[in-house]
Amino acid sequence: MSRSVLVTGGNRGIGLAIARAFVEAGDKVAITYRSGDPAELEKHGFLAVKCDITDSEQVEQAYKEIEEKHGPVEVLVANAGVTKDQLLMRMSEEDFTSVLDTNLTGTFRVVKRANRGMLRAKKGRVVLISSVVGLLGSAGQANYAASKAGLVGFARSLARELGSRNITFNVVAPGFVDTDMTAVLTDEQRAGIVSQVPLGRYAQPGEIAAAVKFLASDDASYITGAVIPVDGGLGMGH
Ligand code: NDP
Repeated sequence: MSRSVLVTGGNRGIGLAIARAFVEAGDKVAITYRSGDPAELEKHGFLAVKCDITDSEQVEQAYKEIEEKHGPVEVLVANAGVTKDQLLMRMSEEDFTSVLDTNLTGTFRVVKRANRGMLRAKKGRVVLISSVVGLLGSAGQANYAASKAGLVGFARSLARELGSRNITFNVVAPGFVDTDMTAVLTDEQRAGIVSQVPLGRYAQPGEIAAAVKFLASDDASYITGAVIPVDGGLGMGH
């Protein structure tokens, strides 16, 4: 059955791979974008909606457009995220709060708005994209790791709050994935990371998309409040 799916940050990287996986499965897929050409994005079969998730008004407008064209969102993938890496002593308050505002509060904004329709429908699937570093920690990424760890408490609280309404909340925690976000790392940093990964390589975005697609499928109907690592074994033990 074709569902109304929303993937935030579906214009590139992991979000694009997730959105494409849902299109291939026959769903009606909306994505949010800030950069990029919507005409190009729509060639993938998406409804491309301009939206900055740090702005509640833009989130509201995006949902109105999606609801008009695809109906209420039944599957939400909160994927949009940013890094602003810096050691603590050099990290400004703005570096900290802006990352939290996108990764954690931005997720709150889109999840809260999606839940309006999900409560009415008495069903829904929400998947949040966290990171292995949310649980492992990462020097120079205190802001990012805090935001990604926050998503776990957020999802697990909502799993308890809304389980009786047949809405599931799960978290996917990727390891290092080949995207623009990791393209800024030097060859030396990359080699250092890969040496810690049991599978000995980065993930491809499609490997993250496969886990998300599963959590949104009927096969995952009894899974909620879970944190699924897709990290090549990097985070084993947390
Ligand atoms: P990219 O940097 O390639 O893409 C980030 C995406 O988030 C873009 O679509 C971007 O939109 C969107 N975005 C950022 N800020 C906002 C905002 N304020 N409002 C709306 N959209 C926004 O990252 P990845 O694809 O690598 O990462 C996707 C998710 O996966 C992120 O949450 C990231 O933290 C997480 N992740 C990534 C890992 C990796 O190794 N790459 C590892 C673990 C987790 P725009 O193009 O307009 O800027």
